[in-house]
Amino acid sequence: MPRSHLFGPEHEEFRGTVRRFIENEVRPHVDDWEAAGQFPPELFRRFGGLDLLGLKYPEPYGGTDAGVIYEAVLFEELARCGSGGVAAGIGAHVAIATPPIHDFGTDAQRKRWLAPAIKGEKIVALGVTEPSGGSDIAHVETSARREGDVYVINGSKMFITNGVNADLVVVLARTKPEGGHHGLSLLVVERDTPGYSVGRKLDKLGWRASDTAELVFQDCRVPVENRLGEEHNGFRLAVGNFQWERLWIAIGAVASAQRSLELAIEYAANRVQFGKTLSSMQVIRHEIADMALLIEQARQLTYYALWLHSKQLPCTKEVSMAKIAATEADVRVADRALQIHGGYGYMMEYPIQRAWRDARLGPIGAGTNEIMREVIAKELDL
Ligand SMILES: Cc1cc2nc3c(=O)[nH]c(=O)nc-3n(C[C@H](O)[C@H](O)[C@H](O)COP(=O)(O)OP(=O)(O)OC[C@H]3O[C@@H](n4cnc5c(N)ncnc54)[C@H](O)[C@@H]3O)c2cc1C
Repeated sequence: MPRSHLFGPEHEEFRGTVRRFIENEVRPHVDDWEAAGQFPPELFRRFGGLDLLGLKYPEPYGGTDAGVIYEAVLFEELARCGSGGVAAGIGAHVAIATPPIHDFGTDAQRKRWLAPAIKGEKIVALGVTEPSGGSDIAHVETSARREGDVYVINGSKMFITNGVNADLVVVLARTKPEGGHHGLSLLVVERDTPGYSVGRKLDKLGWRASDTAELVFQDCRVPVENRLGEEHNGFRLAVGNFQWERLWIAIGAVASAQRSLELAIEYAANRVQFGKTLSSMQVIRHEIADMALLIEQARQLTYYALWLHSKQLPCTKEVSMAKIAATEADVRVADRALQIHGGYGYMMEYPIQRAWRDARLGPIGAGTNEIMREVIAKELDL
């Protein structure tokens, strides 16, 4: 039975291809990559070589124009690879960093940056959050002062996924000191630009195989032609991809929760206490039933939001609801699954501990769940 009317046989065939690739070429390595604190940057080329980095982009730039439902399948399968960090690094490249280049770049900018990003030859990051705050992005402080044909960027960006290895960073910077959210622009900064540096690689609770960095800009001069879209309109442009960013997190969270459920079921079926398996004990059976219920509620809401988005229908409220439901289900299910593992759940050799650590990012990233609730309240005209 198809898991949803959203996925036809062609999507399921694609899912099979992605699943085999991930099972054979990603999953066997994730323990090493988690221990190393990053996956090899060459992995982008492997994904690019399989046409997985341009699923929603036009063919002239190397994309397959397959659409967002295919990309949603990619997110689901990535989330099952056993490392939230790998899913985060590849996911950030396709879900948040390259969309502004495609959506607001000129033909020349797309050829220069999007085409190699789709091949996995260039790694892209998105730099919005700053040390002073990530929720209130209208008050971005990193400045980009215009001097003739260049912008001079000063400031720093915090918690940037792919920040260490990025060849390009799409930066939200203040081009007009006054004007709040009307004074921001999106600028592409390339790796070797003088004045741009990786301040430090950040150590994290979870998502450990993804590289996360603080980026520093000190009199970093970028040409005006590196601006995406209109000057001072960067806030609106950045917001333009928020729904897809949140859906990416929601879709991944549902798939991660599903994997935690499967780990719990497998463990409960094999662990014997008091002469019987855990899965024969009613309290455990009901716990697992509740976990499955939580996941299904989140999945259906997420698929509904995805369907609205894929049809370009208004979906701000539904996407925020899906992001909350999915990420909170993931945290809860991972926690209950760890509990079912007993002491073994607390051991690093069991995969559930990583699922538990990775899940905790969901309610924080891509707009916190408090901000999601605020978005929903506004949509309800409160
Ligand atoms: C591993 C990781 C990867 C990330 N990757 C990226 C990336 O690639 N690019 C990028 O730009 N950013 C990235 N981020 C940043 C992420 O988007 C921010 O951490 C997030 O938006 C929250 O911002 P903050 O951490 O500054 O928290 P703050 O904004 O300081 O918020 C702190 C707390 O206060 C709450 N709060 C704030 N304002 C309100 C309000 N009005 N009402 C109620 N509660 C409120 C928040 O919900 C939160 O609980 C990443 C973060 C992490 C941890």
